[in-house]
Amino acid sequence: MQIPFIDLKSQYNLYKKEIKKEIDDVLESTQFIMGKKVTTLEEDLANYVNSPHAITCSSGTDALLLALLALDVKAGDEIITTPFTFIATAEVIALLRAKPVFVDIDEESFNIDARQIENTISPKTKAIMPVSLYGQCSNMDAINAIAKKHNISVIEDGAQSFGAEYKNKKSCSLSTIGCTSFFPSKPLGCYGDGGALFCEDEKLNAKIRMLLNHGQDKRYQHDIIGINGRLDAIQAAVLKVKLKHFDSEVKKRQEIGQRYNHLLENLVQTPQTSPQNTHVYAQYTIRIKNRKTFAKSLNEKGIPTAVHYPIPLHLQKAFEYLGYKEGDFPISERVSKEVLSLPMSPFLSLDQQDLVVNAIKKALS
Ligand SMILES: *Cc1c(COP(=O)(O)O)cnc(C)c1O
Repeated sequence: MQIPFIDLKSQYNLYKKEIKKEIDDVLESTQFIMGKKVTTLEEDLANYVNSPHAITCSSGTDALLLALLALDVKAGDEIITTPFTFIATAEVIALLRAKPVFVDIDEESFNIDARQIENTISPKTKAIMPVSLYGQCSNMDAINAIAKKHNISVIEDGAQSFGAEYKNKKSCSLSTIGCTSFFPSKPLGCYGDGGALFCEDEKLNAKIRMLLNHGQDKRYQHDIIGINGRLDAIQAAVLKVKLKHFDSEVKKRQEIGQRYNHLLENLVQTPQTSPQNTHVYAQYTIRIKNRKTFAKSLNEKGIPTAVHYPIPLHLQKAFEYLGYKEGDFPISERVSKEVLSLPMSPFLSLDQQDLVVNAIKKALS
């Protein structure tokens, strides 16, 4: 029996009736782009995150791009971020011909090491973009303090951390702009691509809304250059249902994560949650020395695994032009060789968890 890495099928079976009804509503209304479903979802999201403005958009990547555009990031500007993340984080910076400036991670949290940020600030620095990797936030107070001192912005890449808390505040409500993704396998996922931005500032809110709709405020009146970055109403319908159940899912994720921690802590290096954080385990990621043979052994026993991420961004071919070399970010490089994500979703049963743990015990013996 193969355990699903992320169990979207059990989730669908559980919410099927509600989801079908909501999607059917959209089909009957023929309002497929923006409209009421999107507006009410945005209200629900703003309430959930406790942020004045929630703006849905076409993907997590586009949320990050829109955030940079809203902050007027231009060619030659520098954005400080982590090399140990999904490509999208730095990709959008480079797309605007701005420059990703990498700072190594902290080995406990896998997130950007706030203590090393200030060394890399230059007159060209426009923003810091911390990533809440695997589902827990960075040291946001320290990062916000540095940003304030240098009069720059902070964009949280919360694609993996929706629902997580930092000092009792929700991820995406912690900085100038918070961005998340509703890619199907993220903690809150839709049935296609989707994303959202959160901000306090009314002007940023208005600008982001224009940017994601071809720079228009009124129809066919384009004041700025924008993109087609809207969320579909059908995706909003799916998200509306899933958001209703999201708190209980987050609770289950945390229970499963803690049970994994307890059963695995003497066997492998388990993930650490910083004391000011709650973790949503978008990925439950351990560290293991001989990863290849270990993963092969698990896979043979019906346990799927994944590596997030095998190559840090500064060593990716696409970023060769930045001139970084091996050894520049030793923690990111070491960790990228050892991380391994295990099956995780709110629907992973006790039996399935035990199968994973027993397979790990066998693989180690
Ligand atoms: C998934 C992800 C993104 C991109 O989100 P999409 O919705 O797939 O575009 C960006 N950053 C991180 C850290 C991610 O995990």
